[in-house]
Amino acid sequence: MAYDYEKSIRPGKLPHIWCPGCGHGIVMKGLIRAMDACELDLKNTAVVSGIGCASRLPGYLDACTLHTAHGRAAAFATGVKMAKPEMTVLVVGGDGDGTAIGGNHFIHACRRNIDITYIVMNNSIYGMTGGQFSPCTPTGAMASTTPYGNPDPTFDISKLAIGAGATFVARGTAFHATQIDKLIAEGIRHKGTAVIEILDDCPTTYGRRNKFRSVVDMMKRLKDIAVPVAAAAKMTPEQLEGKVLTGVLFKEERPEYTEQYTQVIAKAQGA
Ligand code: SF4
Ligand code: MG
Repeated sequence: MAYDYEKSIRPGKLPHIWCPGCGHGIVMKGLIRAMDACELDLKNTAVVSGIGCASRLPGYLDACTLHTAHGRAAAFATGVKMAKPEMTVLVVGGDGDGTAIGGNHFIHACRRNIDITYIVMNNSIYGMTGGQFSPCTPTGAMASTTPYGNPDPTFDISKLAIGAGATFVARGTAFHATQIDKLIAEGIRHKGTAVIEILDDCPTTYGRRNKFRSVVDMMKRLKDIAVPVAAAAKMTPEQLEGKVLTGVLFKEERPEYTEQYTQVIAKAQGA
């Protein structure tokens, strides 16, 4: 029987605005399956975003959604979780929104280990605003603002999240669609800041400039570079050259922020 995605979609919101071949729809479907697997009550689930193509996602969901300012999704999500710790709080957004404009909010959410699940759709570019290079654009790649090739080194979002203190970090790709819901669901069930990086494709701004002939080529690249962590353990450094690890990359238990903060309030009230 076909999976019923419609039950989580806000009535009248489809069709979506994403370009043909954009990976964001694949991630949205994965998120819906994950919310379903975790049996989330959508009336008690906040989905927060900033600005960008990926940040349009919450508008399609029949949950408690917030479409906020550029780069500020993690800050708004922190506010929601502090005010309503009983809510499940999810963040969705792109690489530019989350790691450039929102870079500070991103790392401090990770540092605090507040119980939010942040899904970063990393398509290596600013899609909506015209194909400018982001902190995740590969060195040497073409963007509208780097017509001779990007001279900057590239952020590894998952490593950034681990370094900043996130207690659950996983990576998947838009090609490996059936893995996305499992990674997000594990992140939702984890108590603390969970970051799920999904390597995604933007055929419209990144693909055209970087000589991908089709969406199929972009998806084939995602298929070819991904190596599950278990398989990587048996590979040599030479074999891992140019590959990215997928699956659960890091997990640890550490006190969660809203619980810590409740104790601070109790202390301040003399309890
Ligand atoms: Fe997707 Fe790129 Fe189109 Fe934005 S511009 S909807 S990221 S394909
Ligand atoms: Mg992007």
